[in-house]
Amino acid sequence: MTINSRGTDRLVLDIFIKKEQEGTYFNLPFEVPKNVDRMDIQYSYSRSHIVDLALSSANNEFIGASGSDREHIWICESLSSDGYKAVQVLPGTWNIIAGAYKITSDEVPVRYEITYTYKKRTLLKGDCHVHTTASDGVLTVEELIPTAKSSMLDFICITDHNNYTHNIPLRNTESLTVIPGVEWTLYNGHANILGLEKPIDGQYFVNTSEEAYELLNKARQNGALISINHPFDDGCPWKWGYDSFEFDCMEVWNGIFKHSDMKCISFWHDRLCQGKRIPIIGGSDFHRFSNYAAPGFPTTWVYSMSRGQTDLLNALRQGHCFVTYQPDAPIMDITCNQSHMGDAVAYEPGLSVIFNYTSVKTGDIIKILSSSGLEKEITSATSGNLTVEIKAEQKKFYRTELYRNLLPGFPPMLCMISNPIYLNL
Ligand SMILES: [Zn+2]
Ligand SMILES: [Zn+2]
Repeated sequence: MTINSRGTDRLVLDIFIKKEQEGTYFNLPFEVPKNVDRMDIQYSYSRSHIVDLALSSANNEFIGASGSDREHIWICESLSSDGYKAVQVLPGTWNIIAGAYKITSDEVPVRYEITYTYKKRTLLKGDCHVHTTASDGVLTVEELIPTAKSSMLDFICITDHNNYTHNIPLRNTESLTVIPGVEWTLYNGHANILGLEKPIDGQYFVNTSEEAYELLNKARQNGALISINHPFDDGCPWKWGYDSFEFDCMEVWNGIFKHSDMKCISFWHDRLCQGKRIPIIGGSDFHRFSNYAAPGFPTTWVYSMSRGQTDLLNALRQGHCFVTYQPDAPIMDITCNQSHMGDAVAYEPGLSVIFNYTSVKTGDIIKILSSSGLEKEITSATSGNLTVEIKAEQKKFYRTELYRNLLPGFPPMLCMISNPIYLNL
């Protein structure tokens, strides 16, 4: 295998197909390393012969076939070439299934070149909560996708109320990962169940909290991410308490920022102070266009290892994300030693926590908060990038918020809120 400087590896398989193999299929096993985001396979031979291509994965799952027409195919969870499933490129022994359809001489040399592109930490932006005409939204899935792209989003979660029929035809595009979901919508509260076309068998309607948690546990066992939605909403608050089920995430910012979101952030902060760690996300809850109601208002930014759904949802579960009021907004990261926002770091004296902000404007107000409350407040004197370093003390966490003057005559408004970096004391 040869390694180049672009974070890719290249493997070359040279084989000879003999005349007597004509009319047969055979496997060519090859090893896929760990941490691969995308695998490209190119093959070449003299076109006086006909050699077909198909592929199976490390799980022995059939991934696809392309006959002999195409010399290049690729596999990636976010999008594969036509004719091949979009799946994770998991490590292990995969098989090229070679089909020796026509061999016109004693033997034909065939060269397969397999290129692995590795995952790397990338900042992607999206919306964790949007509706379509599959429930009470006004756009179809097909209409929503270009709308999300025009907001420069990298991912959206389609979360129609209490059904999953909208999930069946979902397909990613090159620049947009479309994550299947459902907004589980009961009279006692709403939760998003993300990542599966059909998270549970049967219907979603239950009447008691015991039944509710049984349903959510089942969906999570099946692999779904469970996020509690707008828990302090005036119309549809969460009424079943927080101690019988640990949600993977909490939607603290639902649509245009409101008093109920402020209450939710305050509730979340208090729980963090009690040592209860739960990552926050945002969701536009988009149904129809109106003032500031559009996909990406607010935007959830995710430090993900790839554009694939699995990595995106894992990054949300790990709190490697922050929320901004719209897609064009200041961005940030928190680091401490080799760790980032969402991670837990062992406390030691002398530890520094670094807050980096990009696209800050003059007059922006940055707050750094900990389990002791407000640690630092800075008004930015310039536009551009800003770095703030804090000498860590024995606090349970550090997190940050950014406020900006958006409307004349109104106080500065929340533009960005981060997840914490945690300290293990
Ligand atoms: Zn809802
Ligand atoms: Zn909703």
